[in-house]
Amino acid sequence: MEPGLPVHHSRKYCLSVGLVLLVVSVLIPTLTSKADTTDAAASLLSLVRVDVSGPITDIPLPIHSDLVDGQGIPYVLAIASAEQLQRCGCAYTVLDTAPAGTRYLLAASRDPRERREAGTVANVLYDDGFRIIVRSAPDLTAALSRLGLSPRPLSPVPLPFASPPAPARAAPGIAPNPRIQAMLDKVTEKSLSDSISGLSGLTEVVVGGEAYTITTRNTASGVPIEKATQYVYEQLNALGLTASYHSWSSTAYAGRNVIGELPGVSKPSEVILLVAHLDSINDRTDDPTDPAPGADDDGSGCAALLMAATILKDYRFERTIRFVFTTGEENGLLGSAVYAKKLKDEGQNVLDVVNLDMVAYSTQASPIQNLHTRIPQNPGYQADLAIATLFVEVVNTYGLSESLVPVILKESNDQGDQYSFWENDFPSIMVIEDDNNFNPNYHCKSNMDDLQYLNMAYEAAHTKASLGTVAHLAGLVNNTPTPAGSYLLLLQDQ
Ligand SMILES: [Zn+2]
Repeated sequence: MEPGLPVHHSRKYCLSVGLVLLVVSVLIPTLTSKADTTDAAASLLSLVRVDVSGPITDIPLPIHSDLVDGQGIPYVLAIASAEQLQRCGCAYTVLDTAPAGTRYLLAASRDPRERREAGTVANVLYDDGFRIIVRSAPDLTAALSRLGLSPRPLSPVPLPFASPPAPARAAPGIAPNPRIQAMLDKVTEKSLSDSISGLSGLTEVVVGGEAYTITTRNTASGVPIEKATQYVYEQLNALGLTASYHSWSSTAYAGRNVIGELPGVSKPSEVILLVAHLDSINDRTDDPTDPAPGADDDGSGCAALLMAATILKDYRFERTIRFVFTTGEENGLLGSAVYAKKLKDEGQNVLDVVNLDMVAYSTQASPIQNLHTRIPQNPGYQADLAIATLFVEVVNTYGLSESLVPVILKESNDQGDQYSFWENDFPSIMVIEDDNNFNPNYHCKSNMDDLQYLNMAYEAAHTKASLGTVAHLAGLVNNTPTPAGSYLLLLQDQ
């Protein structure tokens, strides 16, 4: 989806940020609103920005999002009463004051012109240099999308921060596993490119026994997204995985995610998720049925998942692996938000989430790729970093370092489905191409987002690194490859 802003702090820059924060915190009390103590004000809540200087759990306010602004400064959005703000003893900036229950949208764009144009469809409460904040209203998500912004709803409930930091299971210095090497060797550029070709409508696919061309995977496209989700379901089913749909709905959109499950043999309740979004979007048109090939965004991630599922199904793992294809991502991370909340509500033990979103565009000789974690001040950061560290070790251990140069960014990037998992406190990373060599055809802004512009060696390296990461996370059981059907017998034995 949309890249975060590159944040590469030098020591000097950190110092200057510290000075700015000091000055801002001195000035801010004069900017904040005076508490209103009348009864009418009792049901009013303020949306405030609080800059982050230490652990965000030290901020005594209900935190609804942690973010990094356009200048690279981490902050949180909190929703609080006048009394809570008075008691908090922290520097804050009031962005809005409204009745309890007021919903907000965040909409990101690196283009200041697009953020300014948002003012033509909504009252912009705040622009942080990367994203704007507006009060939610019917049809506003679609209107902001049409202007080229990437909207998402602000969580109506505070972030949980419930679980203790996950143990760093990904111990440094993994040993190369020849059987995992054999898995990686099965990844081919041809198979990946065939897969992207079908998903992006360059070639026909077979859905429900009939040939079909997927011209768009826009969540609001009707038949096309129905066929695309059915296609993925049938692919997963044909591999012998347990395929299922997860239907979701929000105010303005509805859809279904597709999930394929490979049950773990000894710790089946411990779950590893490999995620990509199946839906696509074309910013140049208002008609959701117009072509939106989405070859890179995110056909590339979906093809990697299908390839990984095809290879991993022949092995047994301690933990359960789920391949999750979401929809509604381009309309505000909608499908993943409902799915992640469902996992949280059900108390599912999701240990790690790896989200692949745009992994096939690079024009660099040594292709950089970004691994996104939450900000270090978030208590979940260490768990995200453990996944990202393992990913880097897989790249180094399995000879992928000439094809991928990983760079870890710690920005709580809210422009991909990993954010939905972070909102529910699940350790997660986003794997994405380099922010500074970003696909110009993203959302069809320049050319259509077609296969011809992709770097398939880069796509294959991403697929191998992700597959290897998941194999290490899930715990390969020391056994020879078995057909997927054998899992049932093995499960009954244990
Ligand atoms: Zn995307």
